[in-house]
Amino acid sequence: MKTHTTENLEIQPCRKCQGGRKHLQTVTLMTWLGDDLITVPDFPAWICDLCGHRTYDTHALAQLSLLLNPDAGTPVQPGVHHPAKKPPANIPPPV
Ligand SMILES: [Zn+2]
Repeated sequence: MKTHTTENLEIQPCRKCQGGRKHLQTVTLMTWLGDDLITVPDFPAWICDLCGHRTYDTHALAQLSLLLNPDAGTPVQPGVHHPAKKPPANIPPPV
């Protein structure tokens, strides 16, 4: 059974740039669980078509933190890099 939904249910005004509209999409959520960076594919998020600001779905975030850990659910904004603490790869150049 299919229910027809209006577009308004899947578009929200962007509070960041005031001019864009946010569409509900699925993205890969990255969050820290203790010292581990975990990724959750197909996570619902609202993404602005103008400034690209994203807001993760609060319901899904709440469910995720229940599943994982009360400390989880702090989203990592894209573009912010946490450098990994690993030695540089020691690969000999191809001859
Ligand atoms: Zn925006």
